[in-house]
Amino acid sequence: MNQQDNLQLAAQAAATLGLRLTVQQQQQFEQYLRLLLAWNEHINLTAIREPADIVTRHFLDSLSCSLVMDNLNESDLIDVGTGAGFPGLPLKILFPSMRLTLVDSVTKKTSFLRQVVAELGLTEVQIVTERAENLGRLPEHRDGYDWAVARAVAELRVLLEYLLPLCRLGGHVLAQKGESAQQEVKAATDALRLLGGELKSLQPVQLPGRAQPHYLVVIAKTAATPERYPRRVGVPGKRPL
Ligand code: SAM
Repeated sequence: MNQQDNLQLAAQAAATLGLRLTVQQQQQFEQYLRLLLAWNEHINLTAIREPADIVTRHFLDSLSCSLVMDNLNESDLIDVGTGAGFPGLPLKILFPSMRLTLVDSVTKKTSFLRQVVAELGLTEVQIVTERAENLGRLPEHRDGYDWAVARAVAELRVLLEYLLPLCRLGGHVLAQKGESAQQEVKAATDALRLLGGELKSLQPVQLPGRAQPHYLVVIAKTAATPERYPRRVGVPGKRPL
């Protein structure tokens, strides 16, 4: 598949969500795809290796978050457990004036992200190699974001302990979830009450070529998160709220 095909892939995929990409955005997705394929030869960033599948299952799936968000330009968004940049980096390409923080605990992954951000010429992107539990205690991140997002990192009640401390009051958490979304929301009743969140919406999203719908779970932060959360590294996962 040549560069021109890849450029069209991203544009066509985005169009299925009603999004129009500029030529510069198409080029950025093409560069991102190229870097992902090259680095994936050496470090394990994704099990998905076909360009067309990367476009739908990573780029388009990430862009689908925009269906439940207003224009993110000038907003502060943090993506926790971002791996190779999903969903944060595609959203940054879509909304170039958004202030983005990408977090992962694995240095190899954050090294990849630094390279992508440099080569795509993206500005106002902060990349942090840290555990989510530690980040939520740091004054420069706590209560600092309009949106805290995550895909494929932990079950919802664990994720809420990572993400709600990072949101400002009136901000939102967005969790991309699979079939178990409704069940996870139910199991998170105590976590929501303890951490200051309320379920705002649970929207199914159907992407081309995917049999199962996935869900965008949006939680509003309606009360301050008590100081004792997040608990120390490993505890949210071992003893979910
Ligand atoms: N969000 C990306 C995606 O959907 O492609 C990556 C998903 S991958 C399955 C989970 C990522 O979360 C890994 O890169 C892992 O290093 C990171 N991670 C898991 N727990 C974490 C924590 N407590 N703090 C920071 N990163 C974490």
